[in-house]
Amino acid sequence: IFISFEGPDGAGKTTALQNLLPQLKAATDQEIVVSREPGGSPIAEKIRNIILDVNDESMDAGTEALLYAAARRQHLVDVILPTLQANKVMLSDRFVDSSIAYQGGGRQLGTKEVASINDFAIDGHLPDLTIYFDVSPEVGLSRIKKDHADQMDRLEQESIKFHQRVHDSYLKLVKENPQRIVTIDAEQAPKQVVDDALAAIKQRFPN
Ligand code: C5P
Ligand code: MG
Repeated sequence: IFISFEGPDGAGKTTALQNLLPQLKAATDQEIVVSREPGGSPIAEKIRNIILDVNDESMDAGTEALLYAAARRQHLVDVILPTLQANKVMLSDRFVDSSIAYQGGGRQLGTKEVASINDFAIDGHLPDLTIYFDVSPEVGLSRIKKDHADQMDRLEQESIKFHQRVHDSYLKLVKENPQRIVTIDAEQAPKQVVDDALAAIKQRFPN
């Protein structure tokens, strides 16, 4: 089983993932592997560092999209596919929808164009379930200001319009993929967010 966690900056998906893990472990006999993108394997983490370098703003948006896809490919081959082949549960903090929302929508490369780059990278391996943590750009960014001030330099390089386009693109993905993507209201209290995410996973995979 392959489950991805998606959402705009400040949605709290990483925290929710960490907090739901003990309960998920208690509810299944299957082993659970947790990973993240960009990164998740040694080569992919090196690519992450190139992309997220705050001291270098000169990267072309197309190059950025290709590097995200390259990192994703390596993560798929090194971590995701071996995990699925061993019948374990794979949880990934971000996957292909992030590229469609951030590079396709946010950077305006076009969602179709970015999806097609990623079609090659993921070779048909879409998640069985995607939990989308929905938060407005305003609430998301204000949370990061409060809790992750170190990330603000990088995020403030983007305009509020960028984050609105990311959010709009996520909502469009949700509409287009009603079978795969379940939306959680991530503006709720953290415990409720965790409970809703767990309920979505248990509903889809009762065993
Ligand atoms: O998930 P996390 O918040 O750690 O992601 C790291 C950063 O990478 C995010 O702040 C997001 O802005 C950026 N990102 C991106 N394009 C992607 C994936 C992540 O710009 N495809
Ligand atoms: Mg995070």
